[in-house]
Amino acid sequence: MREKKYEFGGPVGALLLMVLLPAVVYYLYFCIRFNNGALIPGESINYAPFGSFWKSIIPTGKAAILYLAWFFFQVLLQLFIPGRIFEGAPLKDGTRLSYNMNGLASFLITFAILGLLYMRGVIDFDTIYNNLGALISVVIIFSVLLSIFVYVYSRLSGQYDPESDNPLYNFFLGVALNPRIPPVKGFDLKIFCESRPGLIGWIVINFSFMGYQYMKHGEVSLAMILVCVFQFIYIADYFWYESAILSTRDILHDRFGSMLIFGDLAWVPFTYSLQAFYLIDHVHTMPIWFACLVTILNLGGYYIFRNSNLQKHEFRNRPEKPIWGKKPEYIQTGQGNKLLVSGFWGLSRHANYFGDILMALAWCLTCMFGSIVPYFYVIYFTILLVHRERRDNRHGLEKYGEDWEKYTDMVKWRIIPYIY
Ligand code: NDP
Repeated sequence: MREKKYEFGGPVGALLLMVLLPAVVYYLYFCIRFNNGALIPGESINYAPFGSFWKSIIPTGKAAILYLAWFFFQVLLQLFIPGRIFEGAPLKDGTRLSYNMNGLASFLITFAILGLLYMRGVIDFDTIYNNLGALISVVIIFSVLLSIFVYVYSRLSGQYDPESDNPLYNFFLGVALNPRIPPVKGFDLKIFCESRPGLIGWIVINFSFMGYQYMKHGEVSLAMILVCVFQFIYIADYFWYESAILSTRDILHDRFGSMLIFGDLAWVPFTYSLQAFYLIDHVHTMPIWFACLVTILNLGGYYIFRNSNLQKHEFRNRPEKPIWGKKPEYIQTGQGNKLLVSGFWGLSRHANYFGDILMALAWCLTCMFGSIVPYFYVIYFTILLVHRERRDNRHGLEKYGEDWEKYTDMVKWRIIPYIY
């Protein structure tokens, strides 16, 4: 087996993260729903084992039915909605997998069907809010079961390709790069979980919170509209440029294990929707100048994020296409790949992360300054991206050796040009 340096603190770190991350999801839910957005529990909380918080997180049959219906509805959309077929990057053996990219249609159909169910009275805007604690538990349990399934299935189906000799670490980081049922031509578990139940779920949760704010307070605040619209655009854009995800780290390099499964299914929908969750009961009046500032920040971040990602994606497919009106410059590596050093990729090694962080900040700012809890997203996300850049740097060094050193000499800044 290949000698590989452990990441995330090795097996002990993996175990800690597997316990800590679900606890954080519960804690944030507790802070907003039961503690008025404060971090330290107040005196009014009932700590008895069956107090309101604990009672609310007991998994229920209703939450299980809601989630399973959601998950398998998304599976059906992925399987049966026609889409454009794209080829993934070359794998170790030189072959490429093909992907049916039908995300935008699935995203829009999901909203149309939920609208119909709402009009027929099957669901209401308080359905998610009233079942949120139980839903969190159901999704966490589901993600553990799916992780076990993927681990065992990858072994049995010949897709087993772990990074280390430690089963716990492998369980966390994954043992197959692209587990499919059946292998190669079948249903791609990673691309599905990465983009469908969690990301679309996040936006559905947001809009249900917006509707619930209206049910409860008789109005929808400007802050709520801004955050829901910003995040809707972020995900609509993701699906518009869906094929670009084939050149992202998760798809290119990370195996599909408990880390990605929990992240995709539980972490994303329940922690990324925290701003809308917080805003339900914090119906503040946002000054127009502040709303403009937040919008400009979001648009600026979006511009950097979208264009830098597209520059790299298009460069990988058509290296001659001009960037900012000039022929792209690049480093030709001995390994065969080209490393772009033009456009945003000449300013920093991950300007795309910078754009993403600016947007994250704009989303959090919609909550103004009454609590730090809705700022969790930008804090966590900055840590994630700083760590991710370090991982990518190590990966680049291992893969391209001296060519990578040449690249980092030419492009000195990691994320924020002239600052970091
Ligand atoms: P990148 O899209 O930057 O992809 C990294 C890969 O691109 C590297 O591993 C390398 O792959 C290749 N690469 C790196 N530098 C160059 C270069 N100069 N020229 C050509 N290829 C290069 O990173 P991510 O996948 O991490 O992020 C994609 C987007 O997704 C970002 O905008 C990020 O902010 C966002 N994101 C959002 C998250 C969220 O939860 N909202 C979570 C994670 C990311 P190779 O080995 O092929 O050379």
